Amino acid sequence: MKKELFELAKTCGADLMGVAPAARFAPDHKIFRIYPQVKSVIGFVFRCLRGSYRGTEEGTTYYQYTTMSVENMEETVMPVALVRLANLLESHGYTAVPQRRHQTIMESTDGMNPEVAYDAITRGRVEEPQFDFVDAAVQCGLGEKGFHGALLTDAFGPFQRLCFILTDAELPSDPVVTPHLCDRCGECAKGCPGHCVGADGKIDDWRCAAYYNGANGQKNPFMPPEAFPDFPDRLKIIAGEAEVTPEKARKIMDEIYFYPPAQHAYQCSICGRACDVACYCHLEEKGVLTKKFKTPFRYRPEWKFPLSDFERSDADGSTEL
Ligand code: SF4
Ligand code: SF4
Repeated sequence: MKKELFELAKTCGADLMGVAPAARFAPDHKIFRIYPQVKSVIGFVFRCLRGSYRGTEEGTTYYQYTTMSVENMEETVMPVALVRLANLLESHGYTAVPQRRHQTIMESTDGMNPEVAYDAITRGRVEEPQFDFVDAAVQCGLGEKGFHGALLTDAFGPFQRLCFILTDAELPSDPVVTPHLCDRCGECAKGCPGHCVGADGKIDDWRCAAYYNGANGQKNPFMPPEAFPDFPDRLKIIAGEAEVTPEKARKIMDEIYFYPPAQHAYQCSICGRACDVACYCHLEEKGVLTKKFKTPFRYRPEWKFPLSDFERSDADGSTEL
């Protein structure tokens, strides 16, 4: 049945499938709250088109990543696949509990998902558990966790999205991968236009939300030169160097309306997941990715507007620093 599932998964657009026995997870893991009789966790990897990152790399089109590699994947491609795959399991008499990411539900009161509008998120009042998808994918043998928290796979590096099925079917399991891709090079942290990746690799979600939405003017072709007029540290914000609290992140995002959001509350990604792109370029350059392309993704140095484009002259002729 595992082979039959994988064949169907490929037909539905999945690229990789891995199975973890439930016993691989700690007894208090959320999978057991979601489905106490779970015997196997099945993870699916759907690649994000490398070409969907092209527009941000060129500084030309920004919707393609958001619609094709975020909204479409989360709202159409993966749910449709999950229904068909779950139906196959249930046609064999097993229970199949599909797990797609709740994009707008946060268990903690200060939780944030940079991919959706902050005021579209329900926080804290929701008890519904959601397990850590990257950790579960690692348990399913699909890849390893990179320094900045993304799943890295041999074929696609960090360019993929994930969904799961919990089932009472006891399927043959896949071994956990020995980490071999992430070399702690730090390119993911350097690539972020908002310096959102900490020294420990942890991403500050609220800061990330501000910069995912384009708070760095040097990487945002839609930002007018007079942006953020009421922020005393406007140039630091524009350079990605300001202190950003959750409250300030909300205020910054309230002023970023240079580019309209997509549907389902998905914000248009102006950073274009630069952390993942930097990681991808690094892994591609090292030649360790198994999915090869005829040309390298990055063929020239990254573009950046000068900060001086955003400096404003005061009435006395002095220039703001
Ligand atoms: S960019 Fe380097 S440090 Fe970051 S996840 Fe990729 S390989 Fe690891
Ligand atoms: S590059 Fe974008 S998605 Fe990655 S940490 Fe920075 S702001 Fe967040």
